[in-house]
Amino acid sequence: MPIIMPTSQACAFCEYLAERRPYTILERGDLVAILVTQEQRGKGHLLVIPIAHRPTLLDLDPGEDREMMDALRRAAKAIAKTYDPDGISVWQNNGVTAHQSIPHCHFHVAGTIDDGGTEWGNVPELNIAETDRISDALLLHLPPPRPNDQNM
Ligand SMILES: [Zn+2]
Repeated sequence: MPIIMPTSQACAFCEYLAERRPYTILERGDLVAILVTQEQRGKGHLLVIPIAHRPTLLDLDPGEDREMMDALRRAAKAIAKTYDPDGISVWQNNGVTAHQSIPHCHFHVAGTIDDGGTEWGNVPELNIAETDRISDALLLHLPPPRPNDQNM
């Protein structure tokens, strides 16, 4: 049975990557980008996405998955160094029944809040200036990408 995907007119993440809509992009590589979500659900909440439109985790190409994992690790390190949270949560949803809202594979990475876990209720939607400030703070602590070892 196929995974039932959310329907939308245009993919929001593809729109952001194409700069047709404003959004804070912390880092953009050849295969993977790290975005700062406007719905901050933790102490530093980032989204790691493939550059190419891939609806779910099941659609990632070999190579993309490795770059995704590297970006997740680096994003977590930047959050840890910037916000010093007690924990870091990583989550990813595939399909409507898993509560995937944007039909482009994305991993959430967020430092836990003081009460533990992440904020699952309503959170204020930050503006781009606010997410840009979060990006600037995190960028100071983002480790460099893993060296490409394809030829090793
Ligand atoms: Zn997309």
